Amino acid sequence: MTTAHRVDEIVPSGIRALMMMAAQAERRGASVIHMEVGQPYFDTPAHIRSAVAERLGSHLPGYTPNIGLLSLREAVARRVAERNSISVSVDNVCITSGAVMGVALAVQALVNPTDEVLVPDPGWPNYRSAVTVAGGTAVSYALEASRGFSIDVSALERLITDRTKLIVVNSPSNPTGAVFDAQAMRDLSDLAEQRGIYLLSDEIYEDLVFEGRHHSIVQFGLTDHVLMLSGVSKSYAMTGWRLGWLVAGEPVIQAAAKLVEPLTSCPVTVSQVAAEVALTGPQDCVESMRGSYAQTLRVVVDLLGPTGLLAVEPQGAFYVLVDISSSGRSSAEFAESLLAAQGVAVAPGSTFGPLSDRYVRLSTALPADAAAEGCRRILAHLDDLRRSA
Ligand code: PMP
Repeated sequence: MTTAHRVDEIVPSGIRALMMMAAQAERRGASVIHMEVGQPYFDTPAHIRSAVAERLGSHLPGYTPNIGLLSLREAVARRVAERNSISVSVDNVCITSGAVMGVALAVQALVNPTDEVLVPDPGWPNYRSAVTVAGGTAVSYALEASRGFSIDVSALERLITDRTKLIVVNSPSNPTGAVFDAQAMRDLSDLAEQRGIYLLSDEIYEDLVFEGRHHSIVQFGLTDHVLMLSGVSKSYAMTGWRLGWLVAGEPVIQAAAKLVEPLTSCPVTVSQVAAEVALTGPQDCVESMRGSYAQTLRVVVDLLGPTGLLAVEPQGAFYVLVDISSSGRSSAEFAESLLAAQGVAVAPGSTFGPLSDRYVRLSTALPADAAAEGCRRILAHLDDLRRSA
């Protein structure tokens, strides 16, 4: 069988590779501490599940428009408007099948085969693969540990060429845990408008900030070149429902909605109903889960901080980067040997970009005692490797 070139060019995520290895180890009877995947360890809150079950007992609409249910788009528009004190119309909102699909739609709506897209390193690997599938070229911009992984907008601007069509930013960040300040967001928003380059701001971790507060790219207005992306996965423990949204100027939203038709026709209707319940119902569940992630993060920082191995202390999301360069191994070798020797699964840094091989990423979305045990085993493994070097 001869498949299309775009399939060969996709680099599979190292996070998923480690997940599969961990699953294999478990099938052989090993017990594994999972710190490789970034997903809430809570069930979707009960009030959301029961409201959906009730709806399932009566009537559910069939297909929705490509762009999503009007009532959900209204709820998203209201939320974004209230959080940022700006006006947002439903015409600025496209519902997507997870933020993953939001990234893919934004990139496909904007990027032609000769275009360049600036993506963060360390950064979430899906940005690169979405650009590859669209036939564009992903160009890394470095986020430096010495700056707390904050964004250097002047350095970013120097990477712009006449082929640059889109810049992707992510705050709170996976995998660094950095939260960009208001000035950085303002500079990014200005840069997009002044240079006429689109800027996609992935804000899926907007509710998971432990220090300071989240600053959205749209707080300076929903200008023509700015796109904001979020969803219910992380805030409401709803990863499996696959539901997110893209907020942008009307031409981009119309293009994204047009692209939905040959892909999925529309997001899953049941999940759209669930997301509307999540957004319009009680919000204390968000705060209570955030508190649990903060507790685990504190335990991890207390254990790893004094060793000097933590790249920076995260301010948001649920990840930490640990510097394993003293092991003399690549991040993939370290992650594989850690799983085999100590039964801890982590994500190799190399999957977050070519500049990130000195790190492994730990997810802190797990109970504090399991995270503490995971950290102790990581330190023991690092000691073993250093001794045998
Ligand atoms: N953006 C980032 C930075 C993420 O880490 C993730 C999930 N790992 C997503 C988007 C995808 O979220 P969703 O479940 O809504 O597709």
